[in-house]
Amino acid sequence: MVITALALGMLLAATPYGEPPPEGTAEASHGSNITVRIHDYADSNRRIVRHATEIASEVLRHAGVNSVWLECPVGPQNSANAFCDAPFSPLTFVVNLIPRRMSKRLHALPGVLGLAPETGGTGFASTAFVFYDDVKSCAEKRREDLDELLGSIIAHELGHLLLGTNSHSSRGLMSNFWSTKQLLIVQQRGLHFSEAEADRARQAVLARKLARAAAEESVPSILISGTAKPKEQSQTGFSRRD
Ligand SMILES: [Zn+2]
Repeated sequence: MVITALALGMLLAATPYGEPPPEGTAEASHGSNITVRIHDYADSNRRIVRHATEIASEVLRHAGVNSVWLECPVGPQNSANAFCDAPFSPLTFVVNLIPRRMSKRLHALPGVLGLAPETGGTGFASTAFVFYDDVKSCAEKRREDLDELLGSIIAHELGHLLLGTNSHSSRGLMSNFWSTKQLLIVQQRGLHFSEAEADRARQAVLARKLARAAAEESVPSILISGTAKPKEQSQTGFSRRD
């Protein structure tokens, strides 16, 4: 597993928000492609976070990946949305918005604004971290729109989870360093996955769908009724010899 980081100009490493997945499904995976659960440990501005996730959702949709976003609690309290407690599937993603006191523990390099593991082979990475306090400070320092910056960074980190190994590029959304020019494109909401990355992301979603289907098929069937041979009955104390 490789941990990738996003930093800025320095070093950079849908379905509407919160709407329930289609009725009768634990995940949004039948009607949409992926479900993203947002865990806000940073106690962020809710309006900004919602707008940012709409922006990230649009970036994914531009790449042909539809998403459903859920606000999920970070504490022991029950979620207002029961789908937050649904079992994970390969199509479930988590984005943790974390404050500085938590991001410090990850020992990221100075200037880094997010982290996500890349998993190769048959494993599926699912969890990304976005350093909310640092993103906010960066936006203020550079007089950038926080919503736009946060949304693009969330999309970048989800890109790592979808694309797997070697998912940084030399330019664009998946570059690990966003220049002033790229930050301007962020503000104009023009930073997207490249065509090759978008194709790879769609293939990744398809692979995750197949993995989920295979997992569902492997669940043992329920035995409704059956017959037992006399020898087998003896094991239960009900053989004919008794
Ligand atoms: Zn990155």
